Amino acid sequence: MPKFIFISGGVISGLGKGITTASLGTILQARGYRVSPMKVDMYLNVDAGTIRPVEHGEVFVTEDGLETDQDLGNYERFLGRPLHRVNYLTTGQVYAEVLRKERAFAYEGEDVEAIPHITDEIIRRFDAAGKGADIVIVELGGTVGEYQNGIFFEATRIMKMRRPKDIIQIHVAYLPVPGYLGEMKTKPVQQSVRMLNSMGIQPEFVVGRSEESMDDRRKERIALFCNIDKRDVISNPDVGSIYEIPLILEEQKFADKILNKLGLRNRKVDLKKWRALVTGIKRARRPIKIAVVGKYFGSGKYQLSDVYISVIESLKHAAWALGRKPELVWVDSQRIEKLGADEVLSGVDAIAVPGGFGSRGIEGIISAIRYAREKKIPYYGLCYGMQLACVEFARNVAGLKEANTTEVDPKSKHPVIHIMPEQEKKLLKQEYGATMRLGTWPCKIARGTVSRAAYGKETVGERHRHRYEFNNAYRKRLEAKGLVVSGTSPDGHLVEIIEIKDHPFFVGVQFHPEFQSTPLKPHPLFHAFLAAAVKRRK
Ligand code: GLN
Repeated sequence: MPKFIFISGGVISGLGKGITTASLGTILQARGYRVSPMKVDMYLNVDAGTIRPVEHGEVFVTEDGLETDQDLGNYERFLGRPLHRVNYLTTGQVYAEVLRKERAFAYEGEDVEAIPHITDEIIRRFDAAGKGADIVIVELGGTVGEYQNGIFFEATRIMKMRRPKDIIQIHVAYLPVPGYLGEMKTKPVQQSVRMLNSMGIQPEFVVGRSEESMDDRRKERIALFCNIDKRDVISNPDVGSIYEIPLILEEQKFADKILNKLGLRNRKVDLKKWRALVTGIKRARRPIKIAVVGKYFGSGKYQLSDVYISVIESLKHAAWALGRKPELVWVDSQRIEKLGADEVLSGVDAIAVPGGFGSRGIEGIISAIRYAREKKIPYYGLCYGMQLACVEFARNVAGLKEANTTEVDPKSKHPVIHIMPEQEKKLLKQEYGATMRLGTWPCKIARGTVSRAAYGKETVGERHRHRYEFNNAYRKRLEAKGLVVSGTSPDGHLVEIIEIKDHPFFVGVQFHPEFQSTPLKPHPLFHAFLAAAVKRRK
């Protein structure tokens, strides 16, 4: 039977609970334990696929095609292995299953109630995530005290009552330092632990998230008021790179303390590669300037880049592997529409366009692509970034002035990108949820291409999330003008990778390679992209 660690959050959201979970997984895995992380989202959506990007952040797609929360991406990057459907749970999934069973008379005439039926279904999912694992780390989304997450805490309480030796709770909470006081305050943490207590839960550890590390005095206050040992108050301060956090937790012997409470043996730890990574990150000084041109940066007065987190991390992985310090410039494509690509993009070493949907800001993206192509700046288009590169090429190289994707212009005279036939049927029936082309699909790469040289093999598996595709009616015409179709589905039908000749690096991929890059194993295409940028800069 696996052991369980439940991680809750307090005081504010966006604490970095996901990074804490991933880091904890890293130091436990470094001891040879099989760790299974799980994220629970409290919303009623069945998956993250139908939530507006600026609202939710990135939708991370698993190998087996589930549209999940970006924290799954953090777990995969830290643990260095793929996760699956069992690693992601939402309130929507729980209720959908209980209601389905109720209609199927699976409860045989019983009253179907929140407790035990909903809690049982939650516990069943927790157990499913633990199959084949020694330790399951469950990150409970949101903050303690929110009405909608109460039932999940109840499920963890019941589990602990049944198996007291196998379950611990860790509370991650924020310690503010109000500017006018200049002192780190612990009261909000105390109060959020009280809130847990009122649900019958006593955490074994409190992890304090703060700008600076916590001093002894703060630890003593938290220990006293939260009813735990001072040694079980862990400090998790802001650091230069998130990849330092496993080492910060390791220094405080967090894994040893956890294993001790769970009755597991402490084993020899191997963090050699991880330490080398962090040293490399700190040493990288010479910059490489990469523009990420997208459309989901806005949140009121603030610029957010959460939507592109996997792309951003993948760019960093590749830059570090090349001994460079990544300097990322967020470019809202609507600014290019106003000011022109020259004004906004001059001076960058590389241009990347990540995935997206809809028509807002698209002309700005197309201008950015044209700029990269004409000025011979390394260009890397992911999903929508590949599709729009085809549109740009059709318009400005092949002379099909009215070329477009039918996502933007359904009546386009030259629909070089069009909807996949099965997708059209689904949209007509308003079947939006989980119906895109999702998950890992094989791609065959042609010999003698930039992509083949980067991957070093003929067949690769990459993850997808799209409804539109390259229109084969235009393939010959665009190829005649210098477009290279370097990757296709094994039957040759779906265009998966395009390149253009006589350019330092111009590659567009229909898939999302960013879902497979890890800091210890940067993705080969990201690596080739930035290697070209480094070379050009020289
Ligand atoms: N909107 C495009 C499609 O649906 C691209 C999707 C994406 O970038 N993930 O095909």
